[in-house]
Amino acid sequence: MASQLIREWVGIQQFPAATQTKLLELLGKLKQEDVSTLTILVMGKGGVGKSSTVNSIVGERAVAVSAFQSEGPRPVMVSRTRAGFNLHIIDTPGLIEGGYVNFQTLEIIKRFLLDKTIDVLLYVDRLDTYRVDNLDKQIVKAITDSFGKEIWKRALVVLTHAQLSPPDGLEYEVFFARRSEALLKVVRSGAKIKRQDTWGANIPVVLVENSGRCNKNENEEKILPNGTAWIPNLVKTITDVTLNGSKAIKVDKKLIEGPNPNRKWKEFIPLIFAFQYFFIIKPIQKAIKNDIAREARPAWEMRDTGSPLRKY
Ligand code: GDP
Ligand code: MG
Repeated sequence: MASQLIREWVGIQQFPAATQTKLLELLGKLKQEDVSTLTILVMGKGGVGKSSTVNSIVGERAVAVSAFQSEGPRPVMVSRTRAGFNLHIIDTPGLIEGGYVNFQTLEIIKRFLLDKTIDVLLYVDRLDTYRVDNLDKQIVKAITDSFGKEIWKRALVVLTHAQLSPPDGLEYEVFFARRSEALLKVVRSGAKIKRQDTWGANIPVVLVENSGRCNKNENEEKILPNGTAWIPNLVKTITDVTLNGSKAIKVDKKLIEGPNPNRKWKEFIPLIFAFQYFFIIKPIQKAIKNDIAREARPAWEMRDTGSPLRKY
């Protein structure tokens, strides 16, 4: 991350004055806590609005957005600097292909992240999806297996398409609460977060509406149906997660190539092989040898009856 290559964060000036003021306040708060660089990793399925959310945060069209799932196969890092503060947002390709987690894509993402530190994970999905399924759990599991369970202490769930009228006459807040709880349940089980790990219940869920048709308040700020100006709210939650006292995730060779951080049993694999060899394979070999030795004579004698070469 050579700082001389970072572009000035001009997109911030595109925001209405009220949003700019709040964002600069939050950057000031981070700098006060000695945080002058923030690296945000954005992950999720394809087409959920990851790239659009990246663009919304930086305030410019930094990465390509597509209605059809033809994202590039590689992650893209958008870096911007503003008053001594460096923001890096890593947009990634969708993790699902043909109904399965694409582990090749995950591998590419991991290599891209080598030697970087993830300060915050944005796990993106849509608000207007009414069910969670096993696939959601598989993605969470894949992320956890790659970066360790601790990454969820640095995570926030982002729900796009937040400007909606809930089905079945549900109130907006009730619908949001239900969708959040369903997703968080999947996150907790996919990441194997234990019940006693209270932080698992406190992973924040934030609403986002990337559409140009998003409603605005009197200050021209984009707002959610509940009136919240969502860009400052998202950046505030990112700031809170950054300062929540948990450790950022350093992606080093050990994390990428070493044993799965969540599967401690992996170290025992050679031992299991040795056990199998001495207690299963060896006894079987011995038993076979014994059988052969025992059967050798009678089999020979029986098979040879009638042979023209018989000598007796
Ligand atoms: P990605 O594959 O996760 O990066 O998703 P994209 O950002 O490329 O978005 C996929 C499609 O959904 C595009 O057509 C976007 O315009 C649209 N989209 C993304 N976020 C929102 C949102 O919050 N609201 C609405 N209405 N459309 C969105
Ligand atoms: Mg994308």
